[in-house]
Amino acid sequence: MDCDVIIVGGGPAGLAFARSLRDTGLEVLLVERQPRAALAEPGYDGREIALTHGSRAILERMGVWERIPEAAPLQAARVRNGRSAFALDFDPGHDGQPLGWLVSNHLIRQALFEAVQDQPGLRLACGIGLGSARTTRDFAEVTLSTGLSMRGRLLVAADSRMSPVREQLGIAAEINRLGRSMLVCRVSHTKWHEQVATEWFGHGQTIALLPLNNGMTSVVLTLPERAIARLATLPDAALAKELTKRSSGILGPMEMAGSRHVYPLVTTWAKHFGARRAALIGDAAVGMHPVTAHGFNLGLSGQDLLAAEIREALRHGRDIAGEQVIRSYEEGHRAAARPLWLGTNLLVTLYTDERPLARVMRHTGLRLGARLPVFRTGVRNMLMAR
Ligand SMILES: Cc1cc2nc3c(=O)[nH]c(=O)nc-3n(C[C@H](O)[C@H](O)[C@H](O)COP(=O)(O)OP(=O)(O)OC[C@H]3O[C@@H](n4cnc5c(N)ncnc54)[C@H](O)[C@@H]3O)c2cc1C
Repeated sequence: MDCDVIIVGGGPAGLAFARSLRDTGLEVLLVERQPRAALAEPGYDGREIALTHGSRAILERMGVWERIPEAAPLQAARVRNGRSAFALDFDPGHDGQPLGWLVSNHLIRQALFEAVQDQPGLRLACGIGLGSARTTRDFAEVTLSTGLSMRGRLLVAADSRMSPVREQLGIAAEINRLGRSMLVCRVSHTKWHEQVATEWFGHGQTIALLPLNNGMTSVVLTLPERAIARLATLPDAALAKELTKRSSGILGPMEMAGSRHVYPLVTTWAKHFGARRAALIGDAAVGMHPVTAHGFNLGLSGQDLLAAEIREALRHGRDIAGEQVIRSYEEGHRAAARPLWLGTNLLVTLYTDERPLARVMRHTGLRLGARLPVFRTGVRNMLMAR
């Protein structure tokens, strides 16, 4: 064996998993196709990740949270539907704790990289892609784009939604191309956002307004792909005007405060999260629709679970890639991910359906949600669970 664990993909999930294996004594190889400099100083990519209390607790345990220079507290969230003035509000609990925190994706990646860069037992092979991957009863093997082959005991795919490793291992996945894209950008505006996030399901569009520090907001606009492609080419002033109009001016006139980024919406669900001597983590396992902000939170808890299973195996002198480890991870992560996957997809279907019945149903759904304290408390507890 050249190492114990081979991780393919140095995005947030892969880096977090490498970090979770610190102090295990395992030799870990992480293969990432981007150059080292892009991991050390990742560029701003427009994503503002809403982190739950559970995610914060994991990042604190890893010694990563303290490396994140900026997190904006999310004091409350508001869901609106169409032109209705009614809103479903999720407020903080009695202890006044925020619902969660908004952190820029590039700052999470940077903090994770800082934490692992000198980690004993971890080799970072950056600027190298994957040629092929396979597993046998006795070992996992990857051939890198350099032609070099490496063997380990466990192969972990952290190579995103279209995961080449998943494909090489012959694991099928449900892939949904939604024909819509998200345009994300930071704006400044005249009215104070009160640290409240707004998710607004309008007719023909979805717009999320995420409150950042310094009074700024991240706008996440979802429209059919062509419409987003057109907006993305507008000059700054014209785009800001369009966003002001599309958000009905609730934050006052907007001005662009940074670069714009476009993400085509593709969701994926792997049929298995594990195989012989292999596991899928992060978006390689589940590529969620961003509307409910679960993707990274789920990926973070999944890798934490896999690392815990590995630690347990080590404690009992068992194989770290044995059937028991893979099965426990698969079952645990599937149980956590399935309700979120189904719930998010239902929400997306209901709130992007423009037929009159669907409009009535979502309006009724919001009103019902507001009247059911159990529902609101449930959502709040899910966000704040440790
Ligand atoms: C607009 C937007 C908003 C979002 N908001 C939230 C949110 O609020 N909350 C939340 O929890 N999640 C959110 N997400 C989801 C979150 O960003 C993803 O779940 C998370 O980035 C997935 O991390 P990952 O490491 O699995 O994949 P990625 O970030 O895609 O990283 C995969 C890595 O693998 C590397 N790689 C791929 N193929 C190979 C190969 N063949 N060889 C070597 N390396 C390879 C890539 O270079 C990359 O570095 C959002 C997503 C979007 C698009």
